[in-house]
Amino acid sequence: MRDLITSMDSTRLGFFKSILDEAGIPCFIRNETTAQLTNIFIGPLQPTLCLLNDSDYDEASALLREHQSPQFTSSEEWLCPACKESNPASFELCWKCQAPKPE
Ligand SMILES: [Zn+2]
Repeated sequence: MRDLITSMDSTRLGFFKSILDEAGIPCFIRNETTAQLTNIFIGPLQPTLCLLNDSDYDEASALLREHQSPQFTSSEEWLCPACKESNPASFELCWKCQAPKPE
């Protein structure tokens, strides 16, 4: 078993897992439940996408690199037109100045 990616964003990990599932690479997400129960993320408890087989590591990381395109990143967050802060995609209002999310 080998850790591939650790991220506080379990939605993104789920997305990455689906990519690996499609490619037939056995993997699972560790600590996912913990992350949903608490907003406090401590190192070892962060959700981590793990590979069952160490030998899949190179192939898996190459696959995920392909999917970490700027388009994907920008769909995750939006920039507030008023104060230029970046906000998570799930926010409908800017966390800083409460300006509505642009269409
Ligand atoms: Zn703002």
